[in-house]
Amino acid sequence: MRIAFLGLGAIGTPMAVHVAKQHELTVWNRTGAKATAFAAAHPCTVAATPREAAAGAEVILTCLPTSSDVEGLLDGPDGLLAGMGRGALFLDCTSGDPEATRKIGARLAPLGIDFADAPVSGGTNGAEAGTLTVMVGGTDEQFQRARPVLECFGRRVEHMGPLGAGHAMKAVNNVLLAVNLFAVGEGLAALAKSGISARKAVEVLNASSGRSFVSEVLVPERVLSRLWPLTFRLALLDKDARIAAGFLDAQGVAGPVLHLTSALLGRARASLGEDADYLAPIQLIEREAGVELRG
Ligand code: NDP
Repeated sequence: MRIAFLGLGAIGTPMAVHVAKQHELTVWNRTGAKATAFAAAHPCTVAATPREAAAGAEVILTCLPTSSDVEGLLDGPDGLLAGMGRGALFLDCTSGDPEATRKIGARLAPLGIDFADAPVSGGTNGAEAGTLTVMVGGTDEQFQRARPVLECFGRRVEHMGPLGAGHAMKAVNNVLLAVNLFAVGEGLAALAKSGISARKAVEVLNASSGRSFVSEVLVPERVLSRLWPLTFRLALLDKDARIAAGFLDAQGVAGPVLHLTSALLGRARASLGEDADYLAPIQLIEREAGVELRG
């Protein structure tokens, strides 16, 4: 199948690697050097513009930071719309905004282009392993068409509901991740400051009812080890939490915990900058508490 992939970032790159193994792939990236480097290592063609990438593609995949970045690729003589043909399937793997996605869908439907949201979870490790969870928003027909393509990098590909439902699911997932990041960081900082070994506290937590993905995987691998790898930008998690807060508002759910978490992420992003990793707020908690979670 002829597939176009746009957005070779931290997670887009390993996803595109899996697509290249099974399909005839064309890639496009805003910084062209990344696409050229990708093509030197994987079987694919490099497109000079989004239009060129989409021309002749049966399926177009995007994985950009935000829905407005996706919208920004649509128009103009070199835009996606100038290249996409009737009947093309456009799958947006960006962790995007449900409302913005429905607006894009309303523009594309009269052009005969099938548009579905298909954000992913599982991190860069999951993308490399091809074990991502993919949350799809679209019609049943679109989901059936999308599934075999998304299975290139997804182990669990789930139809969540109509257009935008995938993005809503993803935003709520990520704000829950953020709740845990702050909560586990705060609790462990207090325990460590009281003299309890951070390693022992994490081990006991993970054999008890307060455990989570943050305590079981992220803290041991990245915090206690002091490795702090950069795999997912804090700025993107902040964006996800804002989407989740807006989604709660739209549903008429007050959500004080999730709104507070979104505000804390906004503050951390302002203090740590656009390139900080999403675990960096734990470094802020450590600094403010005057303690390091080593072990
Ligand atoms: P990165 O910041 O690593 O990469 C972003 C990509 O989008 C780059 O290819 C960048 O191009 C491109 N880009 C940025 N702005 C624009 C624009 N205005 N127009 C065109 N291209 C643009 O992000 P990630 O790969 O980490 O994330 C991508 C999406 O996946 C986000 O929505 C994120 O929330 C989500 N996600 C990320 C995960 C992760 O672990 N990293 C996990 C799950 C979901 P350039 O090379 O020129 O900068």
